Amino acid sequence: MTPCPVCKSDALPFWRERECSAARCAECEHVFSEGARDAAVYEADYFERWYLAHRDARLAYFVELIDRHGLEPRAPLLDVGAGVGLWLEVCRGLGLAEATAVEPSEYGRARLAELRDASMPSLEIRAALGELEGRAGRYRTVTVLDVLSHVDDLRGTLEAIRRLLAPDGQLIVKAPNHAPALFRAARWLAPLGRGRALLCVRSQQHHFAPDSLPGLLARFGFRTRHLAALHEAPPRLLGDPRSWALNRVARLAVGSESMLWIGTPDG
Ligand SMILES: [Zn+2]
Repeated sequence: MTPCPVCKSDALPFWRERECSAARCAECEHVFSEGARDAAVYEADYFERWYLAHRDARLAYFVELIDRHGLEPRAPLLDVGAGVGLWLEVCRGLGLAEATAVEPSEYGRARLAELRDASMPSLEIRAALGELEGRAGRYRTVTVLDVLSHVDDLRGTLEAIRRLLAPDGQLIVKAPNHAPALFRAARWLAPLGRGRALLCVRSQQHHFAPDSLPGLLARFGFRTRHLAALHEAPPRLLGDPRSWALNRVARLAVGSESMLWIGTPDG
């Protein structure tokens, strides 16, 4: 059994379907995927299917997210896992000029470079947080939107963000809601072989819930200011009936597919 990626304690089996499984830490209760995982999923196919195919709907969704939750993306902003830059494009439209995008995918960085050249000349593009050494306390906003579930090194990522965030800065996290009820629903779908898809275990390595995310972030020095349930924008899932059906199951099982967390450094 893999040790817990948050606290290194022993973990216990939590869920399994065929070659995929998840474990839960006996100490901090963090739930994480084990076993088969798609390598290099975050390239052209992934971004084109999930983001660029619904580009306008995605941009509108971010605008609505900002309006509804009163988000204030203050500069300098660091976007961790910036993808193809749709979030930064929306922030740019609101007047934000100074930003750093960290994106491990070469495809994503190429799209970000297009955004920089078209309308955001001061956008800095990096492949990893490790390239920002020496910038402690620099960023007034750090955004991690649908990214934290995917990172290889959860502990290192959160420690780096805590270092980089300004004392008066804000951290904004958006993540899928993978509460224990979703794992129960996944067990019901196991005979169909669809539990894995419901939990996205081939790409999502960490599973957060409204009950667990604030405690996890507190471990790394963040104080919760706002936590809200989110319903995903349907256009993201249109055109794929199986994804739409799984989205309905998730909403029935846990009430909302995603959550938005906003916090500040705790000291
Ligand atoms: Zn743990």
